[in-house]
Amino acid sequence: MLLFTPGPTPVPESVRLAMATPTLHHRTPEFEAIFASARANLLKLFGMEEAVMLASSGTGAMQAAVVNICQKKALSINAGKFGERFGKIVESFGFESVVLEYEWNQPAQVEDIALILEKEPDIDTVCIQVCESAGGLRHPVEEIAEYIKSQNRDIAVIADGITAVGVEYIDTTNIDILIAGSQKALMLPPGLAMIGLSEYAIDRIGDGRDYYFNLSSEIKKQRKNTTAYTAATTLIIGLNAVFDEIAKSGGLEQLYKDTKNRANATQKALESIGLQIYPDAPALAMSTIYDKDAEEIRKILKNSYQVNVAGGQDHLKGKIFRINQMGLIPPYQMSWVVNAVELALADLNRRKYDGSANRIFNENYFGESKI
Ligand SMILES: *Cc1c(COP(=O)(O)O)cnc(C)c1O
Repeated sequence: MLLFTPGPTPVPESVRLAMATPTLHHRTPEFEAIFASARANLLKLFGMEEAVMLASSGTGAMQAAVVNICQKKALSINAGKFGERFGKIVESFGFESVVLEYEWNQPAQVEDIALILEKEPDIDTVCIQVCESAGGLRHPVEEIAEYIKSQNRDIAVIADGITAVGVEYIDTTNIDILIAGSQKALMLPPGLAMIGLSEYAIDRIGDGRDYYFNLSSEIKKQRKNTTAYTAATTLIIGLNAVFDEIAKSGGLEQLYKDTKNRANATQKALESIGLQIYPDAPALAMSTIYDKDAEEIRKILKNSYQVNVAGGQDHLKGKIFRINQMGLIPPYQMSWVVNAVELALADLNRRKYDGSANRIFNENYFGESKI
């Protein structure tokens, strides 16, 4: 079965093997060296002042970000499940909450945020997804963050990059906290969350808040290559192996280039067989199709063609399916996936099979001259 869900994503063999080595004690020079290397790689990946790792799923990092940096009132952009989650975290800790809602295929607009910030001058934090995975939507986060900081540098910008860090280059100039998670673009099992922090964020966090997710104590410890509590040792060993694997395949720049090329070729291939891309601003992390037969197509893909893709949630349940683009995905797998989708449409008597999806994918991925 090919796992093509936008999280969890497949873990490369070299990474699985690295994680099969005997458990190390976390308070040892051996592990500290491993931690130092993971930390150096993360600082490069985030392109930010500081990076911390937390033993938790991605939501733990979202919570850590909000709790440690929000002072009074936060604005959350809700264009899907994960944006909605930011609002719930803000409310659950008793901060005042303002929510800007969009349909799940609509990217946030700078003008809408500008209006709210004008009306509510006591907002001190803005939370947004880089990619909102619920609909495979890319928000113009860099543009929004630049606007916010140009108006008031004391508004902290939290960007959830769980399905964006490792997918594409993110300009972090105006972002204070950038969040990544292990089981999406970083090709690891679930359980490790990573946070990039700006200098402003570090200052503002001060002594930090919360007990387990106190970012101030984590920053202090992690600068010395250790953690406040027991580190997720096995996942951190795996993270180094992921960085090695990325380096072996040409480095981060190459990964970004390949991901973009593959996502673009997939979109063209799916459109060529009459399918509709759901978001107005598609993210590169996944290809999201809006279709009345979404559930049927998913079932056929799984049962007849050994491809596992994700469906939709809430009001999009049964209406979309999402094909992963995160990680090191060989083009021969993606070429099979678009071909399988075309076969499924033929099985549903929607369209006669003619091999277009595969051909269009290859033309776009490898260049027409090669085909
Ligand atoms: C997966 C995901 C999360 C975190 O989910 P966890 O299940 O807590 O790891 C947060 N934001 C986005 C955009 C995601 O895709």
